[in-house]
This record gives sequence, C-alpha cells and structure tokens, in this order.
Amino acid sequence: MNQWLMYVNGQWVQSTSGRTYSLINPATRAVTGTAQQGGIADARAAIAAAQGAYKGWAGLTAKERAAYLSKLADSMEQCKEELAGLITLEMGKPLAEARGEVALAAEYLRWSAGEAVRVYGKVIPSSSPDKRLLSVRQPVGPVAAITPWNFPLSMAARKIGPALAAGCTLVLKPAEQTPGVMVRFMELAHEAGIPAGVLNLVTGHPQEIGEELLSNPAIRKITFTGSTAVGKQLMKAATEQVKRVSMELGGHAPLIVFEDADLDIAVAGAVSSKFRNAGQTCICANRIYVQRSVAAEFLERFKQAVEQLVVGDGFEKESAIGPLISEKALNKVRLQVDEAVEKGAQIVTGGKAISRLPGYFYEPTILTAVNDTMLIMQEETFGPVAPVCLFDTEEEVIEQANHAVYGLAAYYYTRDLGRMFRIYESLEYGIIGCNDAVPTAVEGPFGGMKESGIGREGGPDSLADFLETKFVSIRM
Ligand code: ADP
Repeated sequence: MNQWLMYVNGQWVQSTSGRTYSLINPATRAVTGTAQQGGIADARAAIAAAQGAYKGWAGLTAKERAAYLSKLADSMEQCKEELAGLITLEMGKPLAEARGEVALAAEYLRWSAGEAVRVYGKVIPSSSPDKRLLSVRQPVGPVAAITPWNFPLSMAARKIGPALAAGCTLVLKPAEQTPGVMVRFMELAHEAGIPAGVLNLVTGHPQEIGEELLSNPAIRKITFTGSTAVGKQLMKAATEQVKRVSMELGGHAPLIVFEDADLDIAVAGAVSSKFRNAGQTCICANRIYVQRSVAAEFLERFKQAVEQLVVGDGFEKESAIGPLISEKALNKVRLQVDEAVEKGAQIVTGGKAISRLPGYFYEPTILTAVNDTMLIMQEETFGPVAPVCLFDTEEEVIEQANHAVYGLAAYYYTRDLGRMFRIYESLEYGIIGCNDAVPTAVEGPFGGMKESGIGREGGPDSLADFLETKFVSIRM
C-alpha cells in the first residue's frame, strides 16, 4: 500500500488535519494506498515556501536552472518503469501508453531547459535622442498549477518545465485520483538538488486548496488543465487580484474524413484519436464526420478495427483500452449512449458497460444516425464512444465542425493539397491534425480557442505565459 505524503519547502509532510483519503485502482476497484487530505493551511504553507524560494531561484542564471531541469528529465527516464506503473495503477491507462507519457513528460522538461537560455529582451530605437529604451522579460513570480488525472505526469511537467525555466517557483495541486506519480516526481526533483521551496506539492481538497491558491496574493499566476466548468470558476476568482491565468480546458473535437482521404490512414487515425486513453483525452475525436460517398466503406473498416481493440487491465500486455477513471465517468458515458439511442442513434458495435471485468470498463462503441440534439454531439464524452455522421459538402461540414462552444482540437483526412490548406484555415480550433491523429508535440504550441482555454503550452513560446514584460526608459 502506498502512503503518499505532501512535499512542502523540501520536506515530506502530512496534512495539518492529519487526515488522509483512499486511492482506488479503476481497473479493479481495489484500494491501492492513501494520500494526504490537505486543505487551506497546507496550501498556505506551500505558497509561503514558493514565495520564500522565489528570489533565489529567479536569481540563478538560466543555464543553472536549465541544468536542474535536464538532470530531473534524466532521472525520470531512469525511473520510467516505476513512474509508468504508478500512472497505470492510479488511472488505468495501458502501460505502453503510460511509458509514452513518461517519455513525453521528460521531453517537456528538456524542451523548457533548452528555451530557458533564450529569453531575449529588446533594445528599441527611441524617438528621443537622449533616451535608450529596453524591453526585458522577467518571471511572473510564484505560480500555482492545478492538473488533471488523465495525463497526471505530462500535464504537470508541461507546466513545471516552463515555469521553472522562466524563473518561477511553483505549488502543484494534482488531481485527487492521481497524486502518487507526482509525489515520486517530487522525490526525483529533491534528489536532483532542486532547492527547497522551488517545487511544492499539496494534495487533497480541491475547493479549499484552490481557494487559497487564488486568494493568496503571493501567487501571481494560475495555470490550470481540466474541465471548462472548473476553469471558468477559477478565472472568475482570479479576476479579484488580476492574477495571470493559463487555461487548458475541455474540447469536443471533430474528425472529418473527406472522400479523397486514404481510408487506411483515416481509419487508423480515427481509432487512435478516439480510443487512446479510453477516449479520456481533451483532444480525443468526439464527433466523426464522413463524406457520404465513402461512408459505407469507412464504417465497415472502422467497425472491424474497433472490434479488434482488447479492453482490460492496463497492466495486461494485450490491453489496448483500460478502464474509465470512476463510476461517475462510466455513468456519464452510459447516459450519453442511452440518450442518443433513445433519440434514434444506432449502435454499430459496443454500447454497454463490461460487467465481466471488475473495474469501470465500457465497450468500444460506434454510433450512427446521430444528430445535434443528442448530448454526445454537444458535451465532452471522455469515453470510448465514436458517433459517426455523414456529410455532403465541404462548406456543410466546416459549419458543423465549428458549431461548438469548444475550440481545442480538430482532425481531417484528405489527399487534396488545396483542401489541406483550406480546411485548417477555416477550422476554429487551436490544434489541428491533417492526416495526423496525434498532433501533440513538445515543439508545438498546445491550447484552445473559444471555451477551450487561454494561452498555449509547449512550443517555441512556451515560457511566454510565465514571463512579464518590463519596459525601461533610460534618460541619459
Ligand atoms: P475532471 O472532471 O476531468 O476531473 P476537473 O476540472 O474537475 O476535471 O479537475 C481538474 C483539476 O481541477 C483536478 O486537479 C481537480 O482536483 C481540480 N479542481 C476541481 N474543482 C476545483 C476547484 N473548485 N478549485 C480548484 N481546483 C479544482
């Protein structure tokens, strides 16, 4: 049984209340350990630590900060199996996917280390001959990061990397379901010699910790990945002290298959984009649009591919799809499928929870005859269900694809060169995959438009969200 502590000011601590809560393996419903039920006082102590360490950390050279991040990335790679195992234990994804997440997380740290030394300023020609004008960039200050359970390590690394590279210190609140992998990460950070207070981890009560992170003036910025509903609450609270915000929120990605697509690539892409992580990624295809002339063939091949996906415990080698995170998540998927069927949707394959397995498993499912009145066409599903719609023209499908409050990711499949350009230009989404089901890369900016968020993580400008611009006018 794991008994995770919190990490505050370089020390391993229990919650001030002395309370803990149980962690559940979603594949078996068995208790795997406990984590600290932290609250306001714990968040406050962590913030004080981050504030105390700030000047020292920001005062290091970028090269020194980069060296710490690279060292931490190395240790993560050395502990890849252990970290991946914790991810699978806590949230259920297949071990191969968890290993990929660890590798990606280490890459985020390396990318940030590389960018740390490239925080350039500007010397601006002045219109007054006696003045010299400078624009310099400085860290925003201590940062709060709140992260989700679906990528418990890489989402945190995507925030920690650029924050630390920029010179910020940080308080992390991981999702309540997945604290363990981040506790191990903090142990590695400690061993890598990252000074006390630079990184702090508080687990427990989301509302209490969130409230302190937002109301405490020492925290200058909040970076959040999670649901649009919680993101909006945090943004409202952040306005009180005009805290900077970065929000990576929900999505409802369209995936469009045009008649000129390579259907092998489109089918493989639809399977990968929809069913990776059991459909629990914010960039998962949530609606599949297929041009009418190729619909029958696409559906036939898609069904065959989906029926080959093996569902099971993520620790079993053959499992391609693990459990959903919780009973609540399973019920949400059930509700969306049942409601669609009541309104006339047809089940091509799947369509129910898997009762022979002990965890929160749902069959990989394809629905047809869906329409926009159904919940599944409007709300994020976060489960292994693919609703497929037919379309006739490019104009029609673009309008349908853009008809959403979300604007995170969108995918399309075509071999027509003109269409490749036309479509991405007209899609109102922050991340676009053209013949590419995995458009996430450390070197690319990740983030959404509309209600999917504010700001971008990763890519050439990844440190920008953690920097302030300071203008200096020197009169000689
Ligand atoms: P999901 O529904 O996928 O769990 P959430 O947005 O609820 O997504 O959770 C994402 C992160 O936000 C988690 O770390 C969770 O604990 C945290 N969280 C949820 N509610 C609040 C809140 N009111 N204040 C601060 N953090 C919160």
